[in-house]
Amino acid sequence: MGETKLIERDWTEAGGVRFGRAERDIVALGIAIAAIIMFVGTGGTVLPSVVRSLAGVGGGPERLLTNALLLNIALIVFGWRRYRELSDEVRERRKAEAHARRLAETDPLTGCLNRRSIGPNTDALIAAAAERGQVVAFVMIDVDNFKQINDCNGHSIGDAILLECARRIGALLPRSSLMARLGGDEFACVVPFEPHHGETIDQLATSIIESVARPVSTGAAAPQIETTVSLGLSRSDGGRSSTLRQTTDAQALLHSADVAMYQAKKDGRNRYCWFEPTMESELRFRNELETGIRQGISRGEFVPYYEQQIDLASGDLVGFEMLARWHSPNFGVVGPDVFIPVAEEIGLIDELSESVIRQALDDAKQWNPRLTLSVNISPLQLRDPWFAQKLLKLLLEANFPPNRLDIEITESCLHENIGIVRSLFTSLKNQGIGVSLDDFGTGYSSLAQLRNLPFDRLKIDRSFVTRLTDDKDSETIVQAITSLGEGLGLPITAEGIESGEILDRLRLLGKFKGQGYFYGRPADAEQTRRLLAGQGLLVGEQAAPPAADTTADHDDALRRRA
Ligand code: C2E
Ligand code: MG
Ligand code: MG
Repeated sequence: MGETKLIERDWTEAGGVRFGRAERDIVALGIAIAAIIMFVGTGGTVLPSVVRSLAGVGGGPERLLTNALLLNIALIVFGWRRYRELSDEVRERRKAEAHARRLAETDPLTGCLNRRSIGPNTDALIAAAAERGQVVAFVMIDVDNFKQINDCNGHSIGDAILLECARRIGALLPRSSLMARLGGDEFACVVPFEPHHGETIDQLATSIIESVARPVSTGAAAPQIETTVSLGLSRSDGGRSSTLRQTTDAQALLHSADVAMYQAKKDGRNRYCWFEPTMESELRFRNELETGIRQGISRGEFVPYYEQQIDLASGDLVGFEMLARWHSPNFGVVGPDVFIPVAEEIGLIDELSESVIRQALDDAKQWNPRLTLSVNISPLQLRDPWFAQKLLKLLLEANFPPNRLDIEITESCLHENIGIVRSLFTSLKNQGIGVSLDDFGTGYSSLAQLRNLPFDRLKIDRSFVTRLTDDKDSETIVQAITSLGEGLGLPITAEGIESGEILDRLRLLGKFKGQGYFYGRPADAEQTRRLLAGQGLLVGEQAAPPAADTTADHDDALRRRA
């Protein structure tokens, strides 16, 4: 990255130090001049007497004057040496100060400015740009899915990716711009531009996105890594929107760009967004969600709900799928579509999942032992090489037989890290745990992967099943998946059975396990216990009617906001 891009200051010339040097120079100069005047004064009297005495015509210099001259010479020699020592000391101290200042103001990995120093530098740049009739754009840049890159490839590769991103972004910035790494995978640039030519910033944002998207080579043997960035933009004059005030404060600009960056992420990443005032409340909501999730895990607000799984041929209850719910004090009962993606993003999915699985194993121990328990696992958890061990530990702690447990994974896990997924499958199967492919038909899994990975079951995505009776295409897809399952020897679960009509049609198409609202909404542990007691599948409990899951409509509203 070019040094000019950082508006590097001449550290050694920083104000305080320059003043100290000038003061010291004047004192040293004063001493030198005084010593020279005294030397000339005494020398002018002493030397002629010395010369006359040597020539035998005089009686030699006065003793007092001679002593004064010698003292004067000693003073000049001593003063000069002291001056040299002081100069060396000051030079060393100045170097150390400059180094400390550089360390305090720059990011050690990339050499960019850091979060602390971007503010004052931005304020200075805004003022300098204003003098030239320019405004500045604040560009917030976040590397998409950087945590996954780090988790999958290790931190040294993660660092290499960050360095390369910084280099590519820096290469595109105009000379007088600032660039900072705000921490982790977040960069910020401040770019002056002509107020009527906002399109130059649009072009810059597009170039940054394109440049970073080019694959990065991380070594001869290592695979190329592809990554993308999301950008949020704000400008110091507020732009064309009349609702925006001029923002000449770096912190306010940074905040607006941050809000816009979250919007870019929400809109699908790998894109840029200009700040709009309406985005503010969305970000506040998102922050509340994050804080709520962080606190909610330790407070036990995440609980398992259970959806019945039925053998369609016999009508028998064969097990339950555990679906997590968040009993949030702020938002009410929240569904997983809202909180799972946020928990994944903030790195808490492991903790959350462990907490609900632990509760589910405890609940399921009280059910009839022929009933199975299915749990959903996030693709991120599958990347953890210790996942199988962690699951086994939970089973051991709960004293729950592994062959009653089934994990459901979605197709999105399969197109990356197939090696890791395969070894994970082997560990899970060795323990007797079943593995189902969830939401089949909506993702990208190729038939080859289906053959290579030893799945125990396919689950047809509910979108095909719910439309089975009124959409010919859906029926064709369900039929095709059914034959595929038969061909590969994989039993099939149909999810999303909402009516008796759908159930009848499915029964004609093949042999399935099924689940859906027709059999009841997901219910909490207590309601499930009562349901089981009513069917004699829970010893010693009284029958009671199951209650409905009320989260569905509520979640739609939250999901739209999250
Ligand atoms: P999924 O595993 O495909 O779960 C089925 C989803 O369909 C559930 O939504 C369920 O309530 C809903 N559903 C069931 N029957 C019907 C029906 O007849 N009609 C309709 N329209 N919907 C039906 P839910 O509980 O909101 O879960 C959504 C997704 O969140 C789940 O999809 C699963 O992928 C994920 N999930 C749930 N719990 C967890 C968890 O603990 N960890 C992880 N990683 N993901 C979870
Ligand atoms: Mg599932
Ligand atoms: Mg599903």
